Amino acid sequence: MSIAPDPITQIEPIVLRIPFDDGGKGHGIMPTRWNALDIMMLRVETASGLVGWGEGFGYLCQHVTARAVKDMITPFAMGRDSRDPAQLNRDAQLALHLFGRFGITMFAISALDIALWDIAAKREGLSLGRLLGGRKRDTVQAYASLVRYGTPELVGHFTGKAIRQGYTSIKLHEVEEACIAAARSAAPDADITVDANCQISIDKALAMADFLKDQRIEWLEEPTFPPEGTHHWQALAARGINIAAGENVSTLEGFATLIPSLTYVQPSVTKVGGVTEFLRVADAIKASGKRMAAHSPYFGPGYWASLQLAAALDNFNLFEYLYVDQEAWCGLNPPKPVNGFIAIPDTPGLGFEPDPSVVEQYRVG
Ligand SMILES: [Mg+2]
Repeated sequence: MSIAPDPITQIEPIVLRIPFDDGGKGHGIMPTRWNALDIMMLRVETASGLVGWGEGFGYLCQHVTARAVKDMITPFAMGRDSRDPAQLNRDAQLALHLFGRFGITMFAISALDIALWDIAAKREGLSLGRLLGGRKRDTVQAYASLVRYGTPELVGHFTGKAIRQGYTSIKLHEVEEACIAAARSAAPDADITVDANCQISIDKALAMADFLKDQRIEWLEEPTFPPEGTHHWQALAARGINIAAGENVSTLEGFATLIPSLTYVQPSVTKVGGVTEFLRVADAIKASGKRMAAHSPYFGPGYWASLQLAAALDNFNLFEYLYVDQEAWCGLNPPKPVNGFIAIPDTPGLGFEPDPSVVEQYRVG
């Protein structure tokens, strides 16, 4: 840590709405039609002039997360020394714990934490991956995380398209056997996983177990409601199904009791409590012998932060890439998947710099 304190002097949430086309109907996972990337990015500046960028989980709650920053994070963090993001995160969690240990409060804390780690790495002139743990990899394998199409024809079409683009790993958000079978037919050799977003009953999930094994589905993600349903996971695991979950859990404390019932553990940097809590969870995953499959279907600074974590952590070897066609990227020189791999930036910090023209065009708050 450098000797002179470097207080936080500015905190500005910026809300973007960038339309995307997924080729489908836009229905299935979200409570309303979903056809835009809602990004809550956070700009933090310190007295020394360093600027860091963070992101708190947005989607349909982007304005609420921004409001939480204004009402809770800014009064807490302004004027505090920026040099120890982990300690500041801990202090923020303590100060704000009565507003909940998951959800909007933690999304806002995540945004601050990511921005402070961006600043910490820039202060040292290192990419965040190098600051955190060295550079374990220069590229990371991406899987195509397909939206829910709901018809076998569309699922087969988009699975085939992703395969032709070089992906060897596909995630479906389908819940019907015919749709899952269509993907397997279109990609006989690919790794295929299925994310139910908690929308299958345990009876239906158990009835699907043999089918999923026949289709060589590597994991079933958040199969049933609630998303902390360890007894359901154990019942499915007993039928030979690998269970993945974790995107709806924050902090190491939230994960600790869930990890033993999972095969794949899925922390999300914009939800879990930022880089600080992601690192704590990553250590716990390693100690448990379980596998990591991080959650990262977003395209703001959280996307770049996830890439830096992939550089730093030897157990972060698979990156979730949301398979949509967006009108614009909010960051300059976005590292996009090429043949199923993403090159990880090695410039100071996250490697994220906003594109001013995109921010101006798509800013909604
Ligand atoms: Mg998921």
